[in-house]
Amino acid sequence: MEGPDSQRQVGSLMRKRLVVGNWKMNGGLAANATLLAAVAGSWKQLPGREIAVCVPYPYLAQAQAALQGTAVGWGAQDVSEHVSGAYTGEVSAGMLAEFGCRYVLTGHSERRQHFGDTDAGVGAKTVAAMRAGLIPIACVGETLAERDGGMTGPVVLRQLDAVLSALAQGAAAPWVLAYEPVWAIGTGRTAAPSEAQEVHATLRARLAAAGMKDVPLLYGGSVKAGNAAALFAMADIDGGLIGGASLDAAEFLAIAAA
Ligand code: PEP
Repeated sequence: MEGPDSQRQVGSLMRKRLVVGNWKMNGGLAANATLLAAVAGSWKQLPGREIAVCVPYPYLAQAQAALQGTAVGWGAQDVSEHVSGAYTGEVSAGMLAEFGCRYVLTGHSERRQHFGDTDAGVGAKTVAAMRAGLIPIACVGETLAERDGGMTGPVVLRQLDAVLSALAQGAAAPWVLAYEPVWAIGTGRTAAPSEAQEVHATLRARLAAAGMKDVPLLYGGSVKAGNAAALFAMADIDGGLIGGASLDAAEFLAIAAA
């Protein structure tokens, strides 16, 4: 694993094992300090892994202070598509970059579901993040009804195509794609490795057709220490986006080591 200078050397990311924690709206200064210290103290034992945590905005300074000098990245869970201006409550990509963020999630299903993020909006956020020098982790995934209706492929490709068409407007920088079936997020129900691989292969083919076959592809949805190795062994799964299990240092580090 590279040293701290790699914080901005995003080119080295390509298809390396990447494990990113999404704390969602969880945390508190004291609990975060313990969790971040554990991660900061363990990254050297995880060679060949790229590890990061995406924290709520108020904790970015804390993550920056605790992870400074390590190779662990930090980031946010959403970003505005706008650069600045009268957008009360929003946070720009430039602001995140000032806090040393390496990553930001775009289009997490909880943003799509509860906050109205659209496919086009996710594309715009992804481009805004890239323009500020961040690595966006764009998320796609189908609901249970869509899966049961045989719509998994069309839905995830529609979501991916919106990102690809936004990128075609001129942004070209490293980014990450995460497949997170909505029915597996926070439910304890995970996709079988072969089920996840099937969708990842579909996404990889679309990326390849767009000249981006090496974009890292993460799986997310109830990944735990006990199922991570089988998922990560799949040909087109380059790592994981970890929600609930990223709040437990031992579990998160075990996933990263898987
Ligand atoms: C997530 O929030 O992106 C996620 C995958 O959550 P969980 O691991 O808890 O299912």
